[in-house]
Amino acid sequence: MTGDPAAPTDPRRHVPRTDAVLSDPRLAAALARFDRSTVRAAVSAAQGQARTGEIPPVEVPDAALAALPPRASSLTPVLNATGVVVHTNLGRAPLSTLAREALLDAAGAVDVELDLATGRRSRRGVAATTALRDAVPGAESALVVNNGAAALALAAATLATGKEVVVSRGQVVEIGDGFRLHELIESTGARIREVGTTNRTHLRDYAEVVGPQTGCILVVHPSNFRVEGFTAGVPVRELAGLGVPVVHDIGSGLLAPEPLLPGEPDARTALAEGADLVTASGDKLLGGPQAGIVLGRAELVERLRRHPLQRAMRVDKLTLAALEATLRAADVPVTTALRRTPAELEQRARRLADALGLAVTAVDGRVGGGGAPGVPLPGWAVVVPPEVVERLRTPDAAVVDGATPPVPAVLARIEDGRGLVDLRCIDPADEPALEAALRRALGRP
Ligand SMILES: *Cc1c(COP(=O)(O)O)cnc(C)c1O
Repeated sequence: MTGDPAAPTDPRRHVPRTDAVLSDPRLAAALARFDRSTVRAAVSAAQGQARTGEIPPVEVPDAALAALPPRASSLTPVLNATGVVVHTNLGRAPLSTLAREALLDAAGAVDVELDLATGRRSRRGVAATTALRDAVPGAESALVVNNGAAALALAAATLATGKEVVVSRGQVVEIGDGFRLHELIESTGARIREVGTTNRTHLRDYAEVVGPQTGCILVVHPSNFRVEGFTAGVPVRELAGLGVPVVHDIGSGLLAPEPLLPGEPDARTALAEGADLVTASGDKLLGGPQAGIVLGRAELVERLRRHPLQRAMRVDKLTLAALEATLRAADVPVTTALRRTPAELEQRARRLADALGLAVTAVDGRVGGGGAPGVPLPGWAVVVPPEVVERLRTPDAAVVDGATPPVPAVLARIEDGRGLVDLRCIDPADEPALEAALRRALGRP
């Protein structure tokens, strides 16, 4: 064969034209799903493969199908086999079935700001804030914004722009991804007034600086680290007597105490202790969508609601729907994963390991998302060679025959040179898919 592009045997002469490829019923169906340019790009990629001789011309339709995006967005579902319950890189909390249903319902036109009974405009998000108030006795009012950082910034902007936010030096923290609490607060035009020392702060430290220039006292749960040893802090209960609003940023979003995590603050307790406002994240231990939650005294929450910045931080109907449903759901995956017992996890790990001829080991899972550092969650994992962990990350989505179940992406972890597939965050319903992914990654039939 010569390199002459015009030779009659050259595959380029037989590459089907775009219209011909698009007449394949499967690609015609794809056109009903994806916009024209997406489908055309896939077709032209396949034509390119045929032109270079990489595939025979008859395979262009199949190759075009394979080149289509495997799903509606490029966000790829991942089975979380890391044992980290709130995994930031995996989007924090996986949502409950009920919250997923709510998302689908809310995806269309919904009465998010309409009273269907009267036909009049209603207050946006009222159902979600009512559900929050119902879930937290002691919360007179609630507000939902974009995330925990927004809740904190809105509180600072409303209560302390041009004034001081008094905070213990040991609570001026960096939360993650370079997010430093004091920088966020100062960006609202409030000044940080640090009191006490890194390890010890006393009531008198606060009392000495509180005055007319004080916007609020801020108590921050240091979330991702612990100060141990010679330490002292001031309970919210005592700060509440100083005559200025006390804002407690509890971080992880427990609404009530969680017996498994005695060191994690919760909204109910914080309010009972006298905090005027509590701020928290919706997608950490609450197990809901990304959201910032503000709970507390009605008059203060109303001031936050009326602040111009609130409009820049408001959440959409999808978040409101998922948050409300999370508060109603029987089975919130974050809570379920947190509470799985070592006995249950051992049994599941052994079954999976036996099916694949692998070993199991006792491991400690973690809360993650900056929550409860150093608190081990005893569980079990299947041990795999470390190189298998890498192969597990690649999903096999390009399955076009409809018969082979797609193999999901799996994120496991490597510890002390061993690959660990931790079952804590794996729903039992996903175990067959996990097993299929392991078989493929291990090169087993
Ligand atoms: C996580 C966290 C935040 C930030 O919340 P996001 O929802 O991530 O914006 C603020 N404060 C504390 C104490 C946290 O743990």
